[in-house]
Amino acid sequence: MAPPMSADSFLDALRDEGLTVVQVGDWRNHNRNHKGPWGPVHGVMIHHTATRGTADTVRICRDGYEGLPGPLCHGVIAKDGKVHLVGYGRANHAGLGDDDVLRAVIAEKALPPDDEANTDGNRHFYGFECENLGDGRDPWPEAQLVAIEKAAAAVCRRHGWNARSVIGHLEWQPGKIDPRGFTMNAMRARITERLK
Ligand SMILES: [Zn+2]
Repeated sequence: MAPPMSADSFLDALRDEGLTVVQVGDWRNHNRNHKGPWGPVHGVMIHHTATRGTADTVRICRDGYEGLPGPLCHGVIAKDGKVHLVGYGRANHAGLGDDDVLRAVIAEKALPPDDEANTDGNRHFYGFECENLGDGRDPWPEAQLVAIEKAAAAVCRRHGWNARSVIGHLEWQPGKIDPRGFTMNAMRARITERLK
């Protein structure tokens, strides 16, 4: 449990981890804080966008779409590994998920099945949307996987968390399949190595 870091600290953390960051518009003040609380934060959530093309992907994640206003995450991780910051604060990415999962994330224990949608995730998770169609065929370039690893590790490092604080949307909310194309256990293993 921790208060969210400042936008500047978030930017510094990503850069200190070796990431190339693209700042999109007034990302520091683009959020949904008027709709509900942001923090305390407990972890990092990874998603795929189900979109094609970096420019369109970043625009959608910043602006949202009919029925789901943006920002849809904090950072968009493109196929080339660049991280596009589109918002900071409460963002529409996690939706309602399982309180048992949240307790496991807080305790950094193995995750139980996500079979309830009773807890506001937008309050408690940093969110990274990763450019991928999520069809099981669209490739995940190594540059992108490294960037996911670095982005998650950057947040964990600042908060003193381990890789068990990093989950996929599919581990949080019943019915979600993202990210699809790599396993979160494999990604957590990479993050663990990076945090050593
Ligand atoms: Zn998602």
